[in-house]
Amino acid sequence: MNETDVVIIGAGHNGLTCAAYLAAAGLRVKVVERRKVVGGAAVTEEFCPGFRNSVAAYTVSLLNPKIIADLKLADHGLKIVERRAQNFLLAPDGSSLLTGEGRTRESLAKLSPRDAERLDEFNRRLEEIADVLRAFVLRAPPNVVEGFGAGAIREGFNALGTANLLRRLSLEQQRTLLDLFTRSAGEMLDDVFESDLIKALFGFDAIVGNYASPYAAGSAYVMLHHAFGEVNGKKGVWGHAIGGMGAISQAMAGAARQAGAEVTIDAGVREVIVERDRVTGVVLDNGETVRAKYVASSVNPKLLYTRLVPSGALGSDFLARIKNWRNGSGTFRMNVALSALPSFTALPGNGDHLTAGIIIAPDLGYMDRAWQDARSQGWSREPIVEILIPSTLDDSLSPPGQHVASLFCQHVAPELSGGRSWDDHREEVADLMIATVDRYAPGFANSVIGRQILSPLDLERQFGLLGGDIFHGALTLNQLFSARPMLGHADYRGPLKGLYHCGSGAHPGGGVTGAPGHNAARVILRDHRALFG
Ligand SMILES: Cc1cc2nc3c(=O)[nH]c(=O)nc-3n(C[C@H](O)[C@H](O)[C@H](O)COP(=O)(O)OP(=O)(O)OC[C@H]3O[C@@H](n4cnc5c(N)ncnc54)[C@H](O)[C@@H]3O)c2cc1C
Repeated sequence: MNETDVVIIGAGHNGLTCAAYLAAAGLRVKVVERRKVVGGAAVTEEFCPGFRNSVAAYTVSLLNPKIIADLKLADHGLKIVERRAQNFLLAPDGSSLLTGEGRTRESLAKLSPRDAERLDEFNRRLEEIADVLRAFVLRAPPNVVEGFGAGAIREGFNALGTANLLRRLSLEQQRTLLDLFTRSAGEMLDDVFESDLIKALFGFDAIVGNYASPYAAGSAYVMLHHAFGEVNGKKGVWGHAIGGMGAISQAMAGAARQAGAEVTIDAGVREVIVERDRVTGVVLDNGETVRAKYVASSVNPKLLYTRLVPSGALGSDFLARIKNWRNGSGTFRMNVALSALPSFTALPGNGDHLTAGIIIAPDLGYMDRAWQDARSQGWSREPIVEILIPSTLDDSLSPPGQHVASLFCQHVAPELSGGRSWDDHREEVADLMIATVDRYAPGFANSVIGRQILSPLDLERQFGLLGGDIFHGALTLNQLFSARPMLGHADYRGPLKGLYHCGSGAHPGGGVTGAPGHNAARVILRDHRALFG
């Protein structure tokens, strides 16, 4: 048995962020991770001899600049570079759209001069609201509390602060905010644009990790969620961490260890110990007990409360609600080793477009059909695929002359119907994804010399992502902001004393942001100081 101030369940990037802040503030911190490697979904691994890649999360933008600076991640080896082009969208008729600084307007004008005229205004409106989101990312949302005690007063001030931030918006901006939180991305995009590919560019962000049609109410929020990031000070831009996403987690682990935290791998938590309504530690899979004043969990909230916390310790209403926590992203993730770079019919040969996120989902109707097909058959014969080739920006990932690519495929059923298992369909669907890319880049299939496949079931097994949910719970209005993970627990405090949420199941949700870890650390420290001065 060992004693510490805080035990953190899971060494994903949020658990590590939380650990680094707490240890830097002088607390004794122990992070216990089930896998043999830190990073959770932000991890780089050799998936084929000589070829390494970001296994799950694959591109960086949402990682908060304050956290990068506070934890001195650059001193711990983190270097993030911009893509030379942001996105490259392909249509079956051979047309394409290439986006990025100084490129989008010109490329879009070839498809629709009218849309090119409208683009700046659309981006400006989105960006204004993304700025609001940025202001909320490192704040605990107002928490709903019962009664009139100190907690209620504190939350009253928090609500006032939140209202104050919103009050700075003009009435028109508030209308846009309401639209973005409630409407479908598809409707909003149809209102503004006529070109399918520009709608697909924004629409793709609305369905990434969101198992829904782009015409589903609330999908506009997911589009916004993917817009609040930045790379090296450039807002809305996506980039690459040299060495892959694992470089982010490794830098965070370095910062946490340097501050004095102990990070232990191969140390899964079997049970959270609860004594007289207070959490007092955890029991590991090997039977070892770690006693702590506080337990912070970075795992999916449903996993925490249905598998790790003894059910008898929880109120029946709480348990019933958390059992209905909606998981399931519908993403299918592949990493491929390539003997050569692909050549796309729409823009043959090498070029900056090969550093972009290359999106095969030519229009919103295609995305809607992919979702309908997945719901009825498990996956679509015309799947949505984004290809990213990080080795075009980072030669540390593959042998000279060869490459690695991430295939991020949307809209497969989180669970297959009719008693079928992903274990029996993984290879078949992987073949389909590769064949889909091959239609736009003939020869691609032949260039694949190794592959790693992660179905939703594999994402759950490997990373503890229930239903393969990349965000630890859908980003729907009833699971966001003050309701993440539940009304009354948006302040990172769980329903038992001493228990905290520091992962993506807490505000502001999924993505490699570090924000839930940062925000939870602040609350734990506040509570610690209130108890011990
Ligand atoms: C396929 C995929 C693609 C994605 N792409 C991107 C992207 O490109 N960019 C982006 O910003 N975001 C992306 N995301 C989302 C992002 O990766 C996640 O939201 C984020 O990494 C979650 O971080 P976390 O620290 O909150 O949780 P996790 O990374 O899930 O960490 C939780 C940790 O807890 C551990 N754990 C689980 N159970 C136990 C237990 N019983 N005991 C101890 N430890 C346990 C897990 O092994 C894991 O290490 C993607 C996610 C996936 C899955």
